[in-house]
Amino acid sequence: MARLELDDVTKVYDTRNETIVAVEELDLDIRDGEFIVVVGPSGCGKSTTLRMIAGLETVTNGEIRLGNERINERAPKDRDIAMVFQSYALYPHKTVRDNIAYGLQLSTDLTGEEIDKRVENAADMMGITDLLQKKPSALSGGQQQRVATGRAIVREPELFLFDEPLSNLDAKLRKHMRTELSRIHSEFRTTTVYVTHDQEEAMTMADRIVILRSGELQQVGAPKEVYHRPANRFVADFIGSPSMNFRNVELNRSGGQPRLSGDGFEYDLDDRVLSQVNRSTSKLEMGVRPEDVTIDPNAPTEKSFEATVDVVEIVGSDNFVYLSLSDKEFRVRVDSSIEPSEGEVVRMTFDDDDIHLFDTTSGEAYAHGLPRTDRTVTADKGDTIAD
Ligand code: ADP
Repeated sequence: MARLELDDVTKVYDTRNETIVAVEELDLDIRDGEFIVVVGPSGCGKSTTLRMIAGLETVTNGEIRLGNERINERAPKDRDIAMVFQSYALYPHKTVRDNIAYGLQLSTDLTGEEIDKRVENAADMMGITDLLQKKPSALSGGQQQRVATGRAIVREPELFLFDEPLSNLDAKLRKHMRTELSRIHSEFRTTTVYVTHDQEEAMTMADRIVILRSGELQQVGAPKEVYHRPANRFVADFIGSPSMNFRNVELNRSGGQPRLSGDGFEYDLDDRVLSQVNRSTSKLEMGVRPEDVTIDPNAPTEKSFEATVDVVEIVGSDNFVYLSLSDKEFRVRVDSSIEPSEGEVVRMTFDDDDIHLFDTTSGEAYAHGLPRTDRTVTADKGDTIAD
């Protein structure tokens, strides 16, 4: 097991027509045993980052260290890293047993007996013992995924790299495999870097999430941290499903009561939230998560407003309600007991602590309310989270 550090790592692709900066000055310090998930939209540099760590791409600038040693120039086979690809990359003519054993035969001097033992242990752990004599073509996608993971486990490497390993599986199996991979990680505690475009996968599996955009690091933090305290609008939008609602607002501090005014609504803001907005600007962007909004006809008018119900989606435990506020959509996720009719005018509200405020130009976060779990304890003391 090992610590993995990326120090100012940049990757530039020079193609005939253009120069693409795929990863720009990326700094990461991944602790020994940590499970890191790298997320971001397609083309943000996730795979390139992973491939540089694996040695499948050269590093244009900067340094990668594994266990405190520079590995930039080390050949992939000498890095003590095992990688699982989205395509599984199994050898079609080899049996499952030989697929799992092959890497060990190449890279170690273990005896045949020792290799057999390791393969059987890995197969047992992945629940594929009865498949050992089969060829990959006889296996389902989920089974092939298990073989690919077994082949990585058996190497007992310093570092696991996963490149969208569950993308080809159906939704139910994907959830199941997430739990399996988390279980394996808690057993081995091998440092892991896992790439996905799926924020839910990141939230459920990661010790810490790394969010990239156009090759640039946006935020590194525990799932709760990036959810409750997104560093900027991009992270706020990317993390959480359905995604956060955004509205341009003006902050009016004149008179007694600070007030947020937007297209079609006004909201009286508590001073403690306002105190976090220490810039002089009055134009801001407000973000509110769908799950933080409630529909309540008795909500105080100074903190609530009316909107028209466009669509109600019943998803079982919750209902997704799409409201129209000044002709713009406002997504709300409410308990399944609340089922307004389409076309109905409802009163919606959210707490001061559910508000996130962002710079309209840079997208940088100015202020966040307190996470719900912290409210009863800290809010009473009048504390705020100051950036
Ligand atoms: P992601 O994995 O997040 O989808 P990638 O790391 O694959 O993103 O790609 C990051 C950027 O680098 C994209 O703009 C992509 O087009 C570009 N890129 C990736 N590989 C190459 C390559 N071999 N040659 C040129 N450009 C590349």
